[in-house]
Amino acid sequence: MPDFTTFSSILRVTTKYEMPAIRSRILDVVLDSYPETFDGLISSKRLGEKIFSGPTPHPNEVLNLFVQQKVVSALPMAYYMAARRGLDSLMDTRLPTSATLPPEILRVAMKGLLVLREMELKEVYHLIVGSGGSRPCSRPDCPSRNTTDPRVSEAHQKIVDRLADSARSGTKVLEVLSLTDVCGGDEVGFCDSCVEAWEAGHADVRKKAWGMLPGLFGLKG
Ligand SMILES: [Zn+2]
Repeated sequence: MPDFTTFSSILRVTTKYEMPAIRSRILDVVLDSYPETFDGLISSKRLGEKIFSGPTPHPNEVLNLFVQQKVVSALPMAYYMAARRGLDSLMDTRLPTSATLPPEILRVAMKGLLVLREMELKEVYHLIVGSGGSRPCSRPDCPSRNTTDPRVSEAHQKIVDRLADSARSGTKVLEVLSLTDVCGGDEVGFCDSCVEAWEAGHADVRKKAWGMLPGLFGLKG
């Protein structure tokens, strides 16, 4: 994989001089990291700008390039990668021109970020609140049976803290939120089926967010 500067030059040249074979070959390498489908997202080994060797480009810079060069299939992910860092990053005025978003792209990215943040908070909140009452666990030793169990409230608090933290700056809605990671593993004592149910629920939230990206970032219709 080339560094970002080399990649952009090759991409521009192959577009300008109409060299579709070389263009699609260089794009192939990158598009794994800017997947077009949810399955692609799950199976991608390295998402976003980290795919480039050398200095990692700012996500705004990648977004600008993909918009200019009409790399349409990569745009939902490129918008997400720029938006997930939050408003300060999107509007950063200290960045070089190549990483400064033009007003129209900035407007679309900001609007999309706000909708994703709201969706993330709302859906994960439902997931937490719904996990106790609506589907009680059958295992007698599982703390999720008892929503007043301090371990359960503590686990929920940790999830809410993590979300609030990401909401201040951006969104993490497409990232795996593992209950085991958030709560520090077995200490909480949720049974396997509760952990699985939570993780399946959160995977649905990710999938829903993924499905919203093209519409949010003005790439549909
Ligand atoms: Zn359970």
